[in-house]
Amino acid sequence: MEIFRDTPGLRSYLKSVRKRNLKLGLVPTMGALHTGHIALIDSSLKDCDLTVCSIFVNPLQFNNPEDYAKYPKALETDLKMLEQSGCHVVFVPEVQDLYSDSRVVNFKFGYLETTMEGEFRPGHFNGVGLIVLKLFNIVQPDNAYFGKKDLQQYVIIQKMTDELSLDINIIGVDTVRDENGLALSSRNQRLSDAEKNEALIFYRSLCRAKDRLLNDVSVKEIKSEISEVFRKPGNTKLEYLEIVHSDTLRPVKNKFEKTNVSICIAGYVGKVRLIDNISII
Ligand code: AMP
Repeated sequence: MEIFRDTPGLRSYLKSVRKRNLKLGLVPTMGALHTGHIALIDSSLKDCDLTVCSIFVNPLQFNNPEDYAKYPKALETDLKMLEQSGCHVVFVPEVQDLYSDSRVVNFKFGYLETTMEGEFRPGHFNGVGLIVLKLFNIVQPDNAYFGKKDLQQYVIIQKMTDELSLDINIIGVDTVRDENGLALSSRNQRLSDAEKNEALIFYRSLCRAKDRLLNDVSVKEIKSEISEVFRKPGNTKLEYLEIVHSDTLRPVKNKFEKTNVSICIAGYVGKVRLIDNISII
C-alpha cells in the first residue's frame, strides 16, 4: 500500500498510473475508520483496478469547533485496516496542503444545503463540496464512493458532479449497522456503552416511522409521535425527523407517496451528534 502525505507526491504517482489505463476509484473519508468505510473500499476494489482512500478531517465542514477538536483520530489503526482491506493508495494531506488562508471560492447548493442538516450545520455543505471537488481534481477518479448514511451529502455530491459536468461516476453504498441496528459512525467512538444503547432510539424511530408510513399514517402524525418518544427522560435530543423524496430531498406531503422515499433523522446522545436514515425503494 502506497501512502502519500502531500498533493504533489500523489499527483505524480497517479500520472504514471493513468498511463497504464487503470480504472481509478476514490473513497474520501475523515479517518477513524470502521466497517462502514471498509464497505466503500470493498465496492471500489470490486469495480476498479486501483483504489485511493483519502483521510482528511476537513476543518471547513465543521461548524462546531468542539466537534472538530474532538473528532476521533486513529491514523495507525486506519492504515492497518486499509492495508488489510487491500486498498492500494492512501492520501493523508495536511490542512495547509489543501487550503490557503486567502480562499475565495464558495459553493451554494440552494434548497439542498438549507434543508435538514443545513438548518443545523450552516456552511457544512460548502465545506463538503470544496473538499470533495478538490479531491476529485487531485485524484481524477473514474468512480467515487459515498455512504448513503449521509444521504444529503450523497445527493449534493451527485448534483455537483452533474452540474459541473465532471466525468466521475458517483456510487452510493448502503449503510452498515451494528448487530442492534446502530449505524456505524466514527463519532460512535465518543459514546460509552450506555450511550450506544441510548443511541438506538434513532434507528428504532426510523423503523417505527417507516412502519407508520407504510400503514398510511400521515407525515404530521408520524413526526409528532417520534417527537413524543424523544420527550421521555434521557440523554437524547431530536433535531429533526424528515420524510423526503430520496432524489430531491423535498418533503413528502402525501402519505400515499411511498416509493423512493427516505426517512432522515438527526440528534444528540449527550454531546455527540448522530444522523441516520432509511429508505423505502
Ligand atoms: P466520514 O469519514 O464519516 O466522512 O465518512 C466517509 C464516507 O464513509 C462517507 O461517504 C460516509 O457516508 C461513509 N460512511 C460513514 N459511515 C458509514 C456507514 N455506517 N455505512 C456506510 N457508509 C458509511
